[in-house]
Amino acid sequence: MIHVLKHVESITQHRDRTLLELGVASALFELVKALEVNLYKVIEHGNDCFLTQVVHVGPEGVRYVQEELDDSVDTMPVAQRPEMAACVGQRHIVLRHLADTGQYLHCFPVLAEHRVLGVLEVVCSAHLSEENLGTAEGFLGLYRNYMSLLDYSERDTLTGLLNRKTFDENLGKILNALAVQRGAADDDSLLRRRQQDDGIHWLAVLDVDHFKRVNDQFGHLYGDEVLLLLARLMRDSFRHQDRLFRFGGEEFVVVLRASTEDEVAQALERLRATVEHYTFPQVGQVTISMGYTHIRSQDTIPEIVGRADEALYFAKGNGRNQIACYETLLASGQITAREQPNGSMELF
Ligand code: GH3
Ligand code: MG
Ligand code: MG
Repeated sequence: MIHVLKHVESITQHRDRTLLELGVASALFELVKALEVNLYKVIEHGNDCFLTQVVHVGPEGVRYVQEELDDSVDTMPVAQRPEMAACVGQRHIVLRHLADTGQYLHCFPVLAEHRVLGVLEVVCSAHLSEENLGTAEGFLGLYRNYMSLLDYSERDTLTGLLNRKTFDENLGKILNALAVQRGAADDDSLLRRRQQDDGIHWLAVLDVDHFKRVNDQFGHLYGDEVLLLLARLMRDSFRHQDRLFRFGGEEFVVVLRASTEDEVAQALERLRATVEHYTFPQVGQVTISMGYTHIRSQDTIPEIVGRADEALYFAKGNGRNQIACYETLLASGQITAREQPNGSMELF
């Protein structure tokens, strides 16, 4: 009992999803004497369902991926693993015995209110005993409750998008990872590749055009409704690995991965056009403007946001309902290098 409580204590001290997931998987690995424990996330794409392995705990150690950083995560169609498909589809524990290895796979669904968020797989050399099944279910319950608390603290209550606090944490993680990669690049070719990798992350700031008029003409409640619907359009428009934040008021931020500027422009342009053609109840047409920039390893958060803001400011001044890229504006001479928040001039 004390042993279990120690695990619970160590799990609940984390405010980080990855550490929480590692804590749950490691606790189970030890407590039920598993051969391995794996945690998969379920990703839905239209009618298709995929699995991504995010945590593995085995006798050789642990392995995990941080989705916001890692582009190389393996994703497989759920149909490739019939026991997982059954677990996700039926939303209950599924057991499979592998005759060739003699292993017993126990698949537990990680349930949220209306859907299966993931599958926890406990691999053992025998059936889990009643007691161990209870232990596994107990830890899953703890994990689920704790995740929903984390979710609550990370999200904006009106739109359900990630909040400003989470933005600082997430972008901080990305910048740290880029800095570590840069530090680890000890020969020229690796450094060149890493510098190219710098361009993978982009940040866009989005602001509703003439939103004051919406509030003035239709009232604050309809204004809120516009923000709520806009958040939905954003969720539908971007890929699941892109991060969407409500920055405050009618301003939003998207952190997305793309290997070229063109790719980012296409994604943002798609959203801009979708919003322009959407009819908001009562309010009718609403447009948005966006400014974006690429995230580099030597950047600070205020520098990145400052550049995107400057491009946004340009888009507003240039007629609104459009997107603008800071680097493109700079290269074409439409804006000049800006004063950095720390006082030094930007070098290009
Ligand atoms: P533009 O950005 O195109 O220059 O014009 P704007 O009218 O959108 O400009 P501004 O950013 O100055 O105004 C934003 C307005 O958004 C001010 C405020 O009344 C409104 N607003 C901010 N937060 C909220 C919110 O949570 N709900 C509602 N309904 N309105 C909000
Ligand atoms: Mg604004
Ligand atoms: Mg505005």
